[in-house]
Amino acid sequence: MKVIKRYNFKGWAGISKTRSRYYIPSSTNDLKKILFLANANGLKILPVGSQKSYFDTIYNNNNIIISMKNFNKILSYNKSKNIIEVGAGLSLTKLINYIVPKKKIIHSIPGSPEISIGGAISNDVHGKDSFKYGGFCNQVEEIKVLLSNNKMINCSLKKNKSLFKAICGGLGLVGIIISVKLKLKNLPSNLLSTQVIVCDKITDQLKVFNSNKFDYIYSWIDCFSKKNKIGRGVVFASNFSKTKKYKNMESHINLKLVDKFVFYILKFIFLNNLVNCLNFIYFNYVKYFKSKSYKEDFKESIYTLKKNNLDLGRLSSPKGFLEFQILVPEKNQNKICLDIFEICQKLKIHGVLVGGKKIKKSNGYLSFCDNGFTFGITVINSNFKETKNKFKIIYNYCLKKRLKIYLCKDFFITKSHLKKIYPNTNKFLNLKKLYDKKELFISDFYLRAIK
Ligand SMILES: Cc1cc2nc3c(=O)[nH]c(=O)nc-3n(C[C@H](O)[C@H](O)[C@H](O)COP(=O)(O)OP(=O)(O)OC[C@H]3O[C@@H](n4cnc5c(N)ncnc54)[C@H](O)[C@@H]3O)c2cc1C
Repeated sequence: MKVIKRYNFKGWAGISKTRSRYYIPSSTNDLKKILFLANANGLKILPVGSQKSYFDTIYNNNNIIISMKNFNKILSYNKSKNIIEVGAGLSLTKLINYIVPKKKIIHSIPGSPEISIGGAISNDVHGKDSFKYGGFCNQVEEIKVLLSNNKMINCSLKKNKSLFKAICGGLGLVGIIISVKLKLKNLPSNLLSTQVIVCDKITDQLKVFNSNKFDYIYSWIDCFSKKNKIGRGVVFASNFSKTKKYKNMESHINLKLVDKFVFYILKFIFLNNLVNCLNFIYFNYVKYFKSKSYKEDFKESIYTLKKNNLDLGRLSSPKGFLEFQILVPEKNQNKICLDIFEICQKLKIHGVLVGGKKIKKSNGYLSFCDNGFTFGITVINSNFKETKNKFKIIYNYCLKKRLKIYLCKDFFITKSHLKKIYPNTNKFLNLKKLYDKKELFISDFYLRAIK
C-alpha cells in the first residue's frame, strides 16, 4: 500500500490547501490496517474517489485521507438481469466504456464523468436525465460498506434501508463504500437528436424543462441579461434518434491546436472579467447563426464540458473559483429564479458558465436531489472576503425560501442553515452515531457544517 505522509492538495475549485496523510490501499485488508492505525493513534479518516468535489467535503486536515482509486475493477456483469458490480474507485468513464459497446446505459451521469462510483453515490450526483430517473443513487441496487468497527455490511432499499439512505449522499461520513451493484438499462440508440432552443427569458427556459418531452436536457443561462431578458439562455434538449447512421460534420483540421487556442482565449476572458461580452456574443451567435438541431454520438454527448474546453479548474487557475448551486422547487419557480438573478446583478456577482438542469427526489438523507430546477453560479475568486459577504446575502435568501444548496460545491454553509434546508440531517446524524460510534469518519466540511 502506498502512503504519502505529507499530502498537500486543493479541491477542484482551487481554494485553500489542506494537508493530510494519504493512503492508497489495494485491498480490504489494507483498509482494515488503516482503520486499526487510525484508532490506535487517535486519527480520523475520510475516503475519497477522484477528488473532483470543489472544497472541504474532501478535506481532512491533519488526519487521514484514503484514496479508493485502486478499487477500480469490474467485478461481475449479469446481462440478462442488467446488473453490474464494480469497485467503488472505478470511474464512470471506465464504466461507460465497458457498457456502451454492450448497448447498455446508466442514468444520472453528471457533467464530469471522470468521477468515481463511490463519489457519485456519496454526493448522489445528478445528470441531464435526472428529472426522469432521480440521482445516481436511484441507479444503485446494493452497496457493500466497510464500517468503522471493521465489519462489512450490504445495504439497499430492501436490506438495512436506513444505512442505505445515510450512505446515499452521505459524504463519506458513515463508512467506506467498497463495491456497488448498479442497475443498467438498454441503450435505445447510439445517436441523439438534439434541439437547440433559444429562450429570451428564464420563464421560457422553465417551460421547456417542465414539458418533460425529452430524454436529456440541460441549459446555459446568461446571468448578465437584464429587465425582461433576465435568465435568457439556450436549452439543449435531446431524444434518442431512430436514425442509424449519421455524418460527423466536425472538421478535420488540427483540433488540438484550435483547442489550445480556444482554451487560452477563454482563460483570458474568465480571469479578466470579460464574461459579459462573451455571453452577449455567444447568445446572439446561437440565436442567429447556429443550426437549431443536430445529431450527436451518445457517448460524445456525455463529455459536453470537456469537448467544449470548459475545464473550470484549469480556466480559473491560479485564482480558483467559488460557486453556489441551488435547487428551486416547482412552487414559485419562476419568481425565485428571477429574484436570485436580480440579487446577483445588484451584488455584481458575475456568474461564469451558469448551467441549468431539472432533477427529481432521491432517497438519501443528505441528498441534494429533490423535485425542481437547479443551477449553479460560479465566480472567479478575486476577493475571497468580498465574495463571501455577497454569497451570504444569497444564502440568507435561500434560507428564507428553504432552498437546498449542493454540499459538494459549497463553501459557506453553517450548521444551523444546513439543518433547515436538509430536514433529514438529524436522521443522518443518528445513523452516523449508530454505525460510527467513535466518530472515525470526519471531514473538514463535517466539522464546519454538520456536527
Ligand atoms: C467538471 C465538473 C462537473 C460536475 N458536474 C456535476 C453535475 O453535473 N452533477 C453533479 O451532481 N455533480 C457534478 N459535479 C460534482 C461531482 O460530480 C461530485 O463532486 C462527485 O461526488 C465527485 O466524485 P469523486 O469521485 O471525484 O469523489 P470525491 O470528490 O473524491 O469525493 C466526493 C465525496 O464522496 C466521498 N467518497 C468518495 N469515495 C468514497 C467511498 N469509496 N466510500 C465512501 N465515501 C466516498 C468523499 O468522502 C466525498 O465526501 C461536477 C464536478 C466537476 C469537477
